[in-house]
Amino acid sequence: MSTPAPVPAAAGERFLDGKVAIVTGASRGIGKAIAERLALRGAKLACVATEAKNCAETVARCQAAGATAVAMGVDVSNTKAVGELVEKIHKELGEPYVLVNNAGLTRDQLLLRMSEEDFDRVIAVNLKGAWNFSRAAARSLMKSRGRIVNISSVVGLMGNAGQSNYAASKAGLLGLTRSVAKELASRGVCVNAIAPGFIQTDMTAQMGETAAQELASSIPLKRIGTPEEIALAVDYLVGPGGAYVTGQTLVVDGGLSL
Ligand code: NAP
Repeated sequence: MSTPAPVPAAAGERFLDGKVAIVTGASRGIGKAIAERLALRGAKLACVATEAKNCAETVARCQAAGATAVAMGVDVSNTKAVGELVEKIHKELGEPYVLVNNAGLTRDQLLLRMSEEDFDRVIAVNLKGAWNFSRAAARSLMKSRGRIVNISSVVGLMGNAGQSNYAASKAGLLGLTRSVAKELASRGVCVNAIAPGFIQTDMTAQMGETAAQELASSIPLKRIGTPEEIALAVDYLVGPGGAYVTGQTLVVDGGLSL
């Protein structure tokens, strides 16, 4: 006899009630919107950024939504420190159920001008950071039959001039996602990636109004996306709708990569 499919979550349903969620890069932009969305679902949140104080506003907003939330600081590229932090989260909040690897940075430059340091740093934060957290939380996620969501980028699918380091890190995340999905599937853990297009955050704010308008007109849906639209994709993947989805890349880009 086959298992019945879960009923899709109604708006406002607290399907993460009491479950522990780790969101990296939660101080602003996409990570902040993800933390707030998971708070509405009832999750107990570990909001991580380079320094705990950077997540103060996110934590306050999650708490205002009725959730338990704590701010934590770590450099996601530091394997030992990430291991210790995941242990601390386990002790303070309980067994992690959701891990959203969202922390990321850019150090753009054309290939001929890019320094080795800028290549290594972007790979270390964007790619190794996700590996660090996935490995440190894997045992807990197997116990809780949890979910991992890696925030990649359409640039990881399409490439982008001036972003060889960033595109390589985001493409690497897709390989990491598929491999960890295969490794953890037998333990009931679903592992997926989201590939956002251009989203209105600090990361994209530097481009200026004219460039932003030109870019928006080249997107089939004729606008830049919002952090909340990425948070809603995470909401789907960590909710009942995502229970039979693993190893996939959900592209949320207004059609940019078409
Ligand atoms: P953002 O506004 O620049 O925020 C980046 C976040 O990552 C901050 O919370 C920052 O913490 C954290 N972070 C950076 N380096 C870290 C480190 N070494 N250790 C711990 N935390 C670190 O970025 P965003 O635009 O919201 O992007 C979030 C994710 O989405 C990134 O992975 C990005 O590549 C991806 N993405 C963004 C877009 C876009 O258009 N915005 C498109 C595709 C993909 P601090 O505040 O402490 O620095």
